Amino acid sequence: MEPTRNRSPQEIWEAALGELQIQVSKPNYRTWFGKTTGLDHRDNRFVIGVPNTFVAEYLDKNQRSLIEKALIGLTSPEVQVEFQVNGKHQHSGNGSKQQIQAIPEAAPPRTRLNPRYTFDNFIEGNGNRLARSASLAVAKNPGHTYNPLFIYGSAGLGKTHLLHAIGQAATANRINVICTSAEQFTNEFVTALREKTTEEFRNKYRSIGMLLIDDIHFIGGKEQTEESFFHTFNELHNTNRQIVITSDCHPKSMPLLEERLRSRFEWGLIVDIQPPDYETRLAILRSKARNNGVSLGENVLELIAREAPENIRVLEGSLNRVVAYAKLLGVTPDVDTATRALEDVASKEYLADDITPLSIIDAVADCFQMTRDEIIGRKRDKDTSLARRLAMYLIRQETNCSLEQIGRELGNRDAATVTSACKRIIGDIDENLYLKRKLRDVHRILHHKQKPRNAS
Ligand code: ADP
Ligand code: MG
Repeated sequence: MEPTRNRSPQEIWEAALGELQIQVSKPNYRTWFGKTTGLDHRDNRFVIGVPNTFVAEYLDKNQRSLIEKALIGLTSPEVQVEFQVNGKHQHSGNGSKQQIQAIPEAAPPRTRLNPRYTFDNFIEGNGNRLARSASLAVAKNPGHTYNPLFIYGSAGLGKTHLLHAIGQAATANRINVICTSAEQFTNEFVTALREKTTEEFRNKYRSIGMLLIDDIHFIGGKEQTEESFFHTFNELHNTNRQIVITSDCHPKSMPLLEERLRSRFEWGLIVDIQPPDYETRLAILRSKARNNGVSLGENVLELIAREAPENIRVLEGSLNRVVAYAKLLGVTPDVDTATRALEDVASKEYLADDITPLSIIDAVADCFQMTRDEIIGRKRDKDTSLARRLAMYLIRQETNCSLEQIGRELGNRDAATVTSACKRIIGDIDENLYLKRKLRDVHRILHHKQKPRNAS
């Protein structure tokens, strides 16, 4: 991806994430980068949104230089990273001296509408046709068609996208919109209770033209919040103001939801989003690639569409990963590069918790028909060395272990040995079909829970 085009902070950040994904281990990536966003990019300042101070602190201390490196190619060589937690700034330019405050007491701000989540950018397919047209109807004629509109479906299928698209269309029509997650709504309400500002809280919500609530399943069972939401709902609904709600399941399947709230949801229209079929996945990939200014061959796009699971967020991640991987290797992304990029990641998306250094060593030993002791031991013939390097590489990829820990697990070797082993695997895997096959076999064992032959 070329750095020059005018891209939004979020787009730049997503491209950076594509690279970071390759450089940090999967669990680390998920833990620390999973909920980050690109918030602002002005002059040389790039602001990254993080869910809490804990993450801000960790990223600031441990990943700052890696992040800046990833951003340099996409922004400018002088880029400075800042972290922002729930609207509060962490000016932490020069390292860790600064004390990062506890989780902010103030209510989180309302969610900003993501400018990329528009109807124009939303690809229609069999799985989302109904939800999309209901959303369009509501955006065109708020308060008068389906009220509330309740959209449900599993993660990564475009619920938030549609919600923001409605919000954007309404804002363009000068409707005062609040778009918030049920979690934020709850936090805000709890803060209002504590600070005795519930009246303001109510007024704020009473005065709006449209309420968009994301992930309502979050409030199930939180009685006071449900109560407050119930009243807000009624006030808005009685005056024909549009309410749109998303959830990961049908109201009927939310066991903790109060009955009267459930029945309110059924007043309007309830639509579901189904996972995208292959054609839709392909169309989405084409559009994302075009929007990001990357050109990928049709066969590469088809490969990604085939390999990725039925989750559009993961689909986008796969695309970014292929692009970043090719960039890292300095090649044009072709089917081969894409296969490799995805091989490392696709199978790990639903990674089991029981993957440990030992289970990896055992899986490798199994594939090479060796024993665990041989891999850990001192033998230096070609095959054993290769197996040992592969084990190091995989532990690095699949677990949170530090280089030192990995060295220790593999017979008290030092961190430098582990680093060079990982580098060699990355360097060799392209040419070495034998290694490629072994890697695939080990993955299969690890992720399909086949018991390694010599596990004890
Ligand atoms: P959910 O809220 O259902 O978990 P999101 O709305 O966050 O899912 O969607 C995940 C990602 O997939 C977002 O980046 C979104 O833009 C993208 N996406 C989802 N559906 C579509 C679609 N039909 N066309 C284009 N992009 C989509
Ligand atoms: Mg969502």
